[in-house]
Amino acid sequence: MTEIRKDPFTGQWIVTGTEGEQDFFTSLALQEKTEWKVCPFCPGSEKVSGKEIYALRTPGTPADSPGWEVRVIVSKQAALQIESDPDRRPEGMYDLMNNVGAHEVIIETPDHIKNLSNLSVDQVTKVLSTYQARMRDLEGDRRFKYSLVFKNQRKASKYRLGHSHSQLVALPITPKSIKDELQNSREYYSYKERCLYCDVITQELKDPKRIVEENDYFVAITPFASRFPFEVWVLPKRHNCDYLRESYDSINNLAKILKGSLLRIEKVLDDPPLNYMLHTAPYLREREGYWGTIRDDYHWHIEITPQILELTGFEWGTGSYIEPLLPETAAQILRDVKL
Ligand SMILES: [Zn+2]
Ligand SMILES: [Zn+2]
Ligand SMILES: [Zn+2]
Repeated sequence: MTEIRKDPFTGQWIVTGTEGEQDFFTSLALQEKTEWKVCPFCPGSEKVSGKEIYALRTPGTPADSPGWEVRVIVSKQAALQIESDPDRRPEGMYDLMNNVGAHEVIIETPDHIKNLSNLSVDQVTKVLSTYQARMRDLEGDRRFKYSLVFKNQRKASKYRLGHSHSQLVALPITPKSIKDELQNSREYYSYKERCLYCDVITQELKDPKRIVEENDYFVAITPFASRFPFEVWVLPKRHNCDYLRESYDSINNLAKILKGSLLRIEKVLDDPPLNYMLHTAPYLREREGYWGTIRDDYHWHIEITPQILELTGFEWGTGSYIEPLLPETAAQILRDVKL
């Protein structure tokens, strides 16, 4: 039985027992040890990769066939299930709910290219617009409070053919990491009456030692208290809490700066394993119970985190990080990369 359980100690929600009735070790083996002969994400493999939920495709071409530019499918390793009710309930003092959610894979190009940064700005724009389209569609499902887009980018191997893709999960809860950010920014706003992120952007632009790249719409910085070496955040210069409300022009500029930032990191660190996460406001429906200032106090952004150091007992034990490289040095190195 798959469930989402609340950790009473930290307040985090844990998706548990995702293997259901299957043999746990067999499914682990399936997840990581499938030796791919043919790329499941390339055109021609549509029947293998999974049912199409959404696609940007040449008019007249049928779903689940070639002719697409960006294609969204149900994840084969879905930890969450779309056909159920959250049914949040207690079990003694504990709190749990069913594993309701959506788990989708966004295949970012029909070409067999590993990294998003190697796609054209035009193609990256299509990917970023697809994020919006999927998040907007899932907003209509009132069971979902939050949708998170993320990417795990790794080196290619026989188990990982390396075809650029990202993932989206829609959840019946707001993740703890987002809640922490929301609470911090609300607190800041409540006594300064200004957005924390806007203040950070103003300060960083004034003293640009942590700026990696900027354009009219966005700025990419190494955060003042970076957790990881070469961590980069991309923030919209104009205040907005909600990624869904960004215009096409803005998304196009985001494509440029995201591609640029990723390229810089990949050049400096020789294509390191990395993740990025899109942090935006929870679904802002009427009478959802969020505070009145959320539109003013929160500010969406993308966090890019290269994973070049293994986490140790220090990080696990304290929840703090040791970052051996000064963010100012990292920014300088990234800025100096010739694109
Ligand atoms: Zn491929
Ligand atoms: Zn702001
Ligand atoms: Zn964030």
